[in-house]
Amino acid sequence: MEQTLSIIKPDAVKKGVIGKIIDRFESNNLRIAAIKKLQLTRCEAETFYAIHKERPFFKDLVDFMVSGPVVVMVLEGKNAVAKNRELMGATNPKEAAKGTIRADFADSIDANAVHGSDSLENAKNEIAFFFGAREIC
Ligand code: ADP
Ligand code: MG
Repeated sequence: MEQTLSIIKPDAVKKGVIGKIIDRFESNNLRIAAIKKLQLTRCEAETFYAIHKERPFFKDLVDFMVSGPVVVMVLEGKNAVAKNRELMGATNPKEAAKGTIRADFADSIDANAVHGSDSLENAKNEIAFFFGAREIC
């Protein structure tokens, strides 16, 4: 069993597809072990995406992530990290495989509907960033 962090980004929350995205996880054996809706502060978004701070898109990414509420979740299941990345599809929705979340719900590389941890190590850190042990079950 693995756990990974998923974020439904502001574009998908605004579109009203929280339920449809959660259905993709639950239909593919990823259990929602924790969930909450929140508005990221600029400082939180910058800290969460600190790994990208030298990239040219960093400011746009942070601006976008604070543009509205997000839903953060801990997904749990067999190979959860890789399974979530597979269900999400490629970063650029134009390149995302048919039937993936980004192909179906994302509009652009900036507004790409979901975040998912890219390794078990990052998943542990990202989960700890948003959730205390008391909030995960
Ligand atoms: P992923 O979300 O697929 O793990 P990355 O970790 O590489 O992708 O990038 C984090 C986020 O930064 C992406 O989801 C996307 O919103 C944004 N991003 C990545 N690359 C670009 C780019 N070339 N132009 C604009 N935004 C980008
Ligand atoms: Mg990433």
